[in-house]
Amino acid sequence: METTLVLIKPSGVQRGLIGEILNRFERKGLTVVGMKLKQLDSEILREHYAHLVDRPFFPSLVRSMTATPVVCLALRGLDAVSVVRQMTGVTNSRLALPGTIRGDFGMSGQENIVHASDTPENAALEVARFFAPGEIFDYKPCTLPAIYNPDEAAS
Ligand code: UDP
Ligand code: MG
Repeated sequence: METTLVLIKPSGVQRGLIGEILNRFERKGLTVVGMKLKQLDSEILREHYAHLVDRPFFPSLVRSMTATPVVCLALRGLDAVSVVRQMTGVTNSRLALPGTIRGDFGMSGQENIVHASDTPENAALEVARFFAPGEIFDYKPCTLPAIYNPDEAAS
């Protein structure tokens, strides 16, 4: 099983979408193994968005991501990284497909409601960036046999 990081960005928090977004991931069958509010600052954002620090929109991205606390979620499941990216939709919300979070709730390329890790390698780094080890809970919900077959559940 993989564990991936989702941030409900200030755009999602301010729009009152925390419950809606969490509901989608829960109904899908992902396990919430970490969850908290966190106020971000430019230091953690320079790490988290290291691939974007030299882009002209980076100061605006920092302002956007620090406008309110974000909700940090660690979600576990089989192929959780790609499953959650698919549920998130492409970066520009106006191009994101209906049925995805960005496609259903966003109109912006920057104010796009959620962050989701893009690869298993980055997911491991990002979960460790936003959660201390004691904040991730290894438990198996009793619903797992209804979500996976035994082979899937063991992997
Ligand atoms: N972003 C932006 N302008 C751009 C590209 C990205 O403001 O031209 C913001 C947007 O909020 C995006 C974040 O930077 O979600 C991270 O960009 P990335 O390319 O990693 O997209 P994501 O993985 O979030 O889809
Ligand atoms: Mg990204």
